[in-house]
Amino acid sequence: MSVSFAGHQLHSPRFSLDEARVLARERFGVEGTASQLGSHQDQNALIDGPSGRFVLKIANAAFGEDELDLQNRAMLHLAERLPLEVPRPCPALNGSEIAAVERDGATYLLRLVTFVEGEPLIDALHLAPAVLNALGEVAGLVARGLEDFEHPAAGRALQWDPRHVGAVVEALAPHVEDPHRRSLAVEVAGAAAEAIERLAPRLRTQIAHCDVTDWNVIGRRDRAGRLMPCGVIDFGDVTRTLRVCELAVAASIAYGHDPDDPLCAAAEIVRGFDAACPLDDAELEALPHLVAARAAIVAVGTEQQAALEPHNAYAQRVRAGDWAICETAAAQPARLAGALFRLACGRSAAGHAPRVPAGAWPLPGIAPGAEVDLSPTGLDPLTPPGALGAHGEGRWHATRELSREEPETIHLGLDVFAPEGHEVRAPLAGRVERVGERELLLAAEGLDVRLAGLVPAAMGGEDVAAGAVVGHITAAGSLAPHLHVQAAAPGMPALPGLVKPALAEAWLALCPHPGPLLGLAAPARPERALLARRRAVIPHAQPLYYEAPPEIVRGAGQHLYDAQARAYLDCVNNVAVVGHSHPRVTAAATRQLRLLNTNSRFLYESMTAFAERLAGLLPDPLDRVFLVSTGSEANDLALRLARAATRRRNVLCIRDAYHGWTTATYEVSTSSVDNPLGALAPAEGVHPVLSPDTYRGPYGADDPRAGERYADAVRDAIHELAAADHPPAAFICEALYGNAGGIVLPDGYLQAAYAHVHAAGGVCIADEVQVGYGRLGAHFWGFEQQGVVPDIVTVAKATGNGHPIAAVITTGTIAEALEGQGGFFASVGGGPVSCEIGLAVLDILQEERLQENAQRVGGMLHAGLQEIVGRHEIAGAVHGMGLYLGLDLVRDRTTKQPAREETDAICERMRDRGAIVQPTGDGMNVLKLKPPLVFQQRDADWLLETLDGVLARGW
Ligand code: PMP
Repeated sequence: MSVSFAGHQLHSPRFSLDEARVLARERFGVEGTASQLGSHQDQNALIDGPSGRFVLKIANAAFGEDELDLQNRAMLHLAERLPLEVPRPCPALNGSEIAAVERDGATYLLRLVTFVEGEPLIDALHLAPAVLNALGEVAGLVARGLEDFEHPAAGRALQWDPRHVGAVVEALAPHVEDPHRRSLAVEVAGAAAEAIERLAPRLRTQIAHCDVTDWNVIGRRDRAGRLMPCGVIDFGDVTRTLRVCELAVAASIAYGHDPDDPLCAAAEIVRGFDAACPLDDAELEALPHLVAARAAIVAVGTEQQAALEPHNAYAQRVRAGDWAICETAAAQPARLAGALFRLACGRSAAGHAPRVPAGAWPLPGIAPGAEVDLSPTGLDPLTPPGALGAHGEGRWHATRELSREEPETIHLGLDVFAPEGHEVRAPLAGRVERVGERELLLAAEGLDVRLAGLVPAAMGGEDVAAGAVVGHITAAGSLAPHLHVQAAAPGMPALPGLVKPALAEAWLALCPHPGPLLGLAAPARPERALLARRRAVIPHAQPLYYEAPPEIVRGAGQHLYDAQARAYLDCVNNVAVVGHSHPRVTAAATRQLRLLNTNSRFLYESMTAFAERLAGLLPDPLDRVFLVSTGSEANDLALRLARAATRRRNVLCIRDAYHGWTTATYEVSTSSVDNPLGALAPAEGVHPVLSPDTYRGPYGADDPRAGERYADAVRDAIHELAAADHPPAAFICEALYGNAGGIVLPDGYLQAAYAHVHAAGGVCIADEVQVGYGRLGAHFWGFEQQGVVPDIVTVAKATGNGHPIAAVITTGTIAEALEGQGGFFASVGGGPVSCEIGLAVLDILQEERLQENAQRVGGMLHAGLQEIVGRHEIAGAVHGMGLYLGLDLVRDRTTKQPAREETDAICERMRDRGAIVQPTGDGMNVLKLKPPLVFQQRDADWLLETLDGVLARGW
């Protein structure tokens, strides 16, 4: 088709709002107030009145009645067929759907259509994968819905149709003042037009909406606060075109909204479309070109409109964004996009993979060696000459801490280690296509070969024979000198050696294993499918963090690393108190494992030494120590001790707290998340009392008598039990209300509660499993903050930095109570390895001054979170102290309704951005922040900035 677009100079109609209001009443009989809605080239006014909300559409004078009828028929066609909201035309008083008005010698055609409630997706800054997918699905449904739609006016050539990119850009490029932008558009259009022309005969055609974009897709907030597409408006661009253009138009919006990766965002739209309207091979091949085409058309189109109407705020607003999208589109290699889109649709990308012919070993005198592990699981890898660095591996040396973007870690080549200066020969004959400082590209038949890590000895343009010397090994990058050999589909514009994991599968299809080139077999990569394997064997009652859990393979300090070498800032692992993989802990454990590990019925020093150290950290008379393995065991033993010492059974516990998974501790854990029936039907002898929750409970932190008042609930429960002649054995409580994200107990609470318990002859247990060991900063033990001394203290988690060692510390009198009752023995509790680790952890805490660090960094983090509360409505309050903090996310600050789904989605988004945070609390709406105590000020700053960004841009 030959088309000319130069004459399309479109002035938007300019009626006043008052005129619009009158037109709605006089022509359509609809009363209401009028307000302006945006439009590219028409004028739209929202009419809001007693009979509902409508849009008065005043068409650009360039449009004829047949074109408007096309739009109306398409709307009705879809409205009747799709599970989507679509505007419907309303009849005018004259019986027709189209009315006319004369103005300044021109005739303008009017329509009134129903208003689709919601917000256009353009209003959302960040578009989550689920939203992009749903947008793709909307486009797919529209394409399917219009499959059988016909109209005589649909044959018009529309400038926004990606198919016409060549003609449109040729006509409109002269309007682009900036020469860089102009040539960018011309270049993109040229490449796209050529590909489209080549593929067009194989592509299906039909009528399309051709404008299913973020401006025209309407969404409504789901429970997680995401704007989920539910309708589509603006049928002004309906035209007959290629079916896949419906998708190309929609997919091009992925390049806006500042996505983490533009191609991955587009692929998500493609995936959604394909699910609703399956694509064929030719369409998938054409798609990357059509997406680029649309981006170029929109950029030159808005430029024209903006130049024509400098006062059209709508056109001016979109102009900068449209050029950014065009630049992003130009930067995406079409081949890569093609492979990625195919993978998104569940097709194989193998069609994009070049064949790798057999070649010759390039390093004479060095024999190929074994593969060495250069991934995060490789501990001190040795790289002798000939050692191979694997293809497809996530490289440990390429990881980057505190990175919101995925770092480029996946290796696309094969490395062969060799001494500096060693000769490198061409593995096969070819032409030297490009020569760089430390690399060259050899173009062979159907394959490009990138050789890097060498000083090239061949010249660009030179033909070389197989076995010819092409360079010498040189030092490069962070690994020992090596030759990087990369096979690639021919003609790729640039060949990175490492790519980000999100793009890895597509890149690996384009850069297959180069083994045959070097005379080596390409190893079959084992199918990992770890998640499926876990699900088949680990009960579902034991859930995982995250929808698509990363496979964590390494930890160091306050960072965790996944198998692809992505680094995450770990904000939740209070267990790893001195940091992951602390070398002193490792050394202590390794040394003792080599010497002895046995049970505690033998005499060895470390058990006594560790018990002495713990007792020395506690006030008198807490000087007897039982060593066990976990917090649950510690609390279980504490309950047994209390019952034995008092010869009573009843236990008072805090409603909604958590103390462990053993039968006895589970009974006193009434958190609705962990034990949904616990508080509703407490076990015999268990008496949950009102939790001292100054945020959601009856007495707030501003009530100076809150502590005493909450403690009254303990007193009342004791009175009730005493009246029934069953006074309590014990009262168990954390020194910070941990389950609610670390709400600090009101002043005087434990003092008053302990006094009531002691007066009744009961024993007070402080569960310090989470909050003890210096985490609170100002105090080593949580109970110190309340000015009390418990009768029994339990400690775990931090005690072994992840190794299972826990303790119960109590008085001699209470400890002796077990003597006549079978005594106590735990096979591995307090074993030599555990105790050596326990001692090392205490040494590190002290020497690295981690309690002080918790106070300093925690204070800073608390202040920063407080600022976030000031900035974001959803952030209701900050709880906690030191490095035990919680950010309470609420739907409404007055009702404090937990923002449960939002919190979940925010955690997912934070993980995308490289931070591990998790929800806690009965409403699962508190972001718990309890990192290793080696957390630094810069980590806190980075976390705050990341969180602020997520809350501001959306999730
Ligand atoms: N007490 C408290 C306060 C806890 O938070 C936990 C665990 N989250 C436990 C006891 C149980 O400890 P463990 O998981 O080591 O058995």
